[in-house]
Amino acid sequence: MKLEVQKAQSLKPKPEDESKLGFGRIFTDHMLTIEYTAGKGWHDAKIKPYENFSLSPACSVLHYSQTIFEGLKAYRTPSGGINLFRPWDNFKRMNISAERLCIPKIDEEFALEALIELIRLEQDWVPHSEGTSLYIRPTIIATDPFLGVRAGEQYLFYIILSPVGAYYASGLAPVDIYVEDEYVRAVKGGMGFAKTGGNYAASLIAGEIAHKRGFSQVLWLDGVEKKYVEEVGSMNIFFKIRGELYTAPLAGSILPGITRDSIIRLAKDYYGVKVHEERIAIADIFEENEKGGLEEVFGTGTAAVVSPVGGMTWEDKSIKISGGKMGELTSKLYDKLTGIQYGKEKDEFGWIKTL
Ligand SMILES: *Cc1c(COP(=O)(O)O)cnc(C)c1O
Repeated sequence: MKLEVQKAQSLKPKPEDESKLGFGRIFTDHMLTIEYTAGKGWHDAKIKPYENFSLSPACSVLHYSQTIFEGLKAYRTPSGGINLFRPWDNFKRMNISAERLCIPKIDEEFALEALIELIRLEQDWVPHSEGTSLYIRPTIIATDPFLGVRAGEQYLFYIILSPVGAYYASGLAPVDIYVEDEYVRAVKGGMGFAKTGGNYAASLIAGEIAHKRGFSQVLWLDGVEKKYVEEVGSMNIFFKIRGELYTAPLAGSILPGITRDSIIRLAKDYYGVKVHEERIAIADIFEENEKGGLEEVFGTGTAAVVSPVGGMTWEDKSIKISGGKMGELTSKLYDKLTGIQYGKEKDEFGWIKTL
């Protein structure tokens, strides 16, 4: 497939104050689009000016949510270069999500080459300040103008780019999380392992309730017994208990985070910490806390990288973790991983694609 490049006539001014970027509100001058038609496959790959789509109101994604997405970042290095972090793993995961949602697979290699081409064109949009980055959002939607419930025959793959601020404007502040005991996000056999809009739509209500009660995130328990910890909002979760790390296994109901995998590798291979990928009951975590064994809790995901958890509330019990401060291992893992991403530390794991 050939990639056609259609440049914008005029360019938008770049944001002047990088401390006010926020998340996902500003978009760059160009986007990538590739179309799919049954019988023809993926075709018409284009980099073109960022613009609104024109879609039929009957379009199947709008009714039945046949859509998947990815999220990764481009980081500015100290020498002014640009790094991508494990981008091939995002396109690989996109194809796993595609399979679950009956969306035709993309050519992972071509998608990565096209993304690199797009970022090269938009390189001035990669911000320079500490903690900022260019967020990359690949998405696929079913575009058939048809109200019947079946897998689409027409799709649009697109990538948009958004300069984003440091996740924590005032440093790494530990978050308070609410353990959801009524609603569930996903069950085995469902689509919890796929990065798809429906999972987020299903999670909004618990998030709204948690926010009203003063919590910033929801910790999901398993959808069957509401007993075992799964993940937090758009992050996987880790518990440090008596010097060892515990996180939920990839058993179909949680998203296989690339940050999760990187943290496991760093903890094991770099810091020599034992990591257990196994089911952990929320009751056991609260009990360990009583006994003084619960040392640190943190979430992992592309947006925040590593997010320390300072408190947890489950039913009528509230606990403080690491005295409400960021734990020592959490801090080391955060520094190491962001150091690799921003090109300040050696990439010993082969995770970086330099542009
Ligand atoms: C994207 C996502 C994550 C984190 O995945 P990363 O690859 O680390 O960014 C975790 N949980 C959910 C539900 C997600 O959508």
